Amino acid sequence: MTNKIRTRYAPSPTGYLHIGGARTALFNYLYAKHFGGEFIFRLEDTDIERNVEGGEASQLDNLAWLGIIPDESPLKPNKKYGKYRQSERLDLYKQIAEDLIKHNLAYKAYDSTEELKKQHDEQEKAGIVSFRYDRNWLKISPEEKAKRDKNNEYSIRLALPKNEVYEWNDLVRGLISVNSDDIGDFVIVKSDGYPTYNFAVVVDDHSMEISHVLRGEEHITNTPKQIAIYKALKWDMPLFGHLTIITNMEGKKLSKRDTSLKQFIEDYKNEGYLPEGIFNFLALLGWTSADAKELMTKEELIQKFEPERLSKSPSKFDIIKMDWFSKQYMKTKSNEELNKILKIKKDKEWTTLFLDTYKQNAVTYNQLKEDLNIYLKTKKTLDIPYEKNNVLSTFASILLNKEFSIENIQSAIDETKNKLNVKGKDLFMPIRIATTYEEHGPELAKAIFLFGKEIVFERLKKWS
Ligand code: GLU
Repeated sequence: MTNKIRTRYAPSPTGYLHIGGARTALFNYLYAKHFGGEFIFRLEDTDIERNVEGGEASQLDNLAWLGIIPDESPLKPNKKYGKYRQSERLDLYKQIAEDLIKHNLAYKAYDSTEELKKQHDEQEKAGIVSFRYDRNWLKISPEEKAKRDKNNEYSIRLALPKNEVYEWNDLVRGLISVNSDDIGDFVIVKSDGYPTYNFAVVVDDHSMEISHVLRGEEHITNTPKQIAIYKALKWDMPLFGHLTIITNMEGKKLSKRDTSLKQFIEDYKNEGYLPEGIFNFLALLGWTSADAKELMTKEELIQKFEPERLSKSPSKFDIIKMDWFSKQYMKTKSNEELNKILKIKKDKEWTTLFLDTYKQNAVTYNQLKEDLNIYLKTKKTLDIPYEKNNVLSTFASILLNKEFSIENIQSAIDETKNKLNVKGKDLFMPIRIATTYEEHGPELAKAIFLFGKEIVFERLKKWS
């Protein structure tokens, strides 16, 4: 074991990058970077039936979009650690499983599916609530055993010692201990020859010199099994930390079937959210900064990510809060950066005014594009019922006689106000609707100016 901090994110390529997965990846990334260590991406792809085409690329692409770039991955392997996809490491698992068998630390279990079910049923009848595999239950003749052995009809189970305590000091939850008698011999290699998750993950974490494992709390029950494997192999184990669950606004654990919420990073990317905002938001799903600050750049988060501040209580996925973060980063974007995405083909003055005005309130790039369309695809008719009134005719007659500029639009508004002694909504609403054909918008004089003289004067003439 080295002293170097090495963390990892090890998804199965069964789908796109989910919020929960992204949070796990991010916490491992921040942890490693905080301590000047390395963050590794590797793939748990031995459940062939569940793998989806393009799953690996999608995970990596979405992580990169968020700004989480692994130091090592299947595409950027460190030769010293072998391959970064489990499907390409099968020989290693096999060899280690054989070693365990040789030292009587694991054994071949020859039960067929039916026999296993029978053992289950018997335990159930005897009132045993949770099943423990009994390695002496199966009674078959030496010939039958030889036959099954020849046909590879067996799985490999770890031989757990009796009454052994497996414990770890969880980085999030403190000391957790589990007795081996409460686990029972479990499968490390399935009858199809593939390693189980618990076995492969230990082999990978050990051989890749992983120092810290941060993962979702659904893995807490796996950790004692993994410790049993570390002990059998006499390997040092990494430190474990189990992150609390992420819930929806009702406090229910996020489930992929929950349609009240978009749960894939890709969805937010397509909607034009700012990755910096999501990065910042996700960092606060189960962690807080000592100074209670919320808005933090990647560099600041890396610097402040002290593991002592990992939270023990569930964290809510609050989309309103995520929007707030995206909005804060939108404001900080330069107009050049924004225009690379929006590609506005108007003059510089217009473009600057539009971006300066609208980036203050937009959450996503898509929203900015919609705002832009108000000016590019101007409405031909006013679809808000409205009647000619004093405010309008006064405003129109003043503005139609002036140079078209923000200052003059503003003074036309002011003059109308003074002349008629109207203010607030009674003043702004008629002017806004008559000139912009919208009920809402940014500061009135600017919104009117952005429509341009031609459109505004044409619209005003109807009211003068
Ligand atoms: N493939 C597992 C998962 O996505 C990895 C668990 C682990 O980090 O050990 O949940």
